[in-house]
Amino acid sequence: MNLILLGAPGAGKGTQAEVICNALHIPAISTGNILREAIKNQTALGMEAKTYMDGGKLVPDEIVINILKERLQQDDCKNGFILDGFPRTVPQAEALDKMNVRIDRVVDIEVADEKIAARLSGRRVCENCGASYHTLYKPSKTEGVCDACGGKTVQRKDDHPDTVKERLRVYHEQTEPLIDYYTKTGKLVVVEGQEEVADTSALTLKAVEA
Ligand code: ADP
Ligand code: ZN
Repeated sequence: MNLILLGAPGAGKGTQAEVICNALHIPAISTGNILREAIKNQTALGMEAKTYMDGGKLVPDEIVINILKERLQQDDCKNGFILDGFPRTVPQAEALDKMNVRIDRVVDIEVADEKIAARLSGRRVCENCGASYHTLYKPSKTEGVCDACGGKTVQRKDDHPDTVKERLRVYHEQTEPLIDYYTKTGKLVVVEGQEEVADTSALTLKAVEA
């Protein structure tokens, strides 16, 4: 099964990608995580991406398309994959089509803008392994410490309020048109983001398995 998760920043794509990954045993591919890893390793790619990401802008299409192309060629994608955070623009979706990548379903997780800011301000990520937490909705067992690896959990620079505003603007301008794009292919399913993560997960799994 080849899946795409769409949704605003903070809609919970990453969390749901993990749920589907565990249920269907297919890898979740997050372009955001790949880029953050590149920043951590101070590669040339990371250094370039950082300037865009810190300002809440999208990284240029050409860069992320190349990252994704390489990732999809790896063996673990043979039986399917979940794309979390790609495509984010119409040209990126067109690039997927040109690569002849079959997409079985696109799940759009919808959360109102007003709720996004609160969600993102509580978000914490592990500096070491990238695992994602939320102070209210998904706290780590020990505050500030990653359950998975014991690393330190921190707030992402782009989760600060000013940057969040810009990310939302960019989402509406550049990513939301993909809802139309995939509605036309007949592959789109909308999931309303719920207060409880588990409730959203139940809806997401239903959307994927239906
Ligand atoms: P979120 O969905 O919470 O915004 P991500 O981790 O998916 O977080 O993305 C973080 C940042 O990484 C984005 O704001 C953007 O700068 C960059 N990024 C990730 N994926 C893409 C993409 N497909 N196209 C362009 N930029 C991307
Ligand atoms: Zn960790």
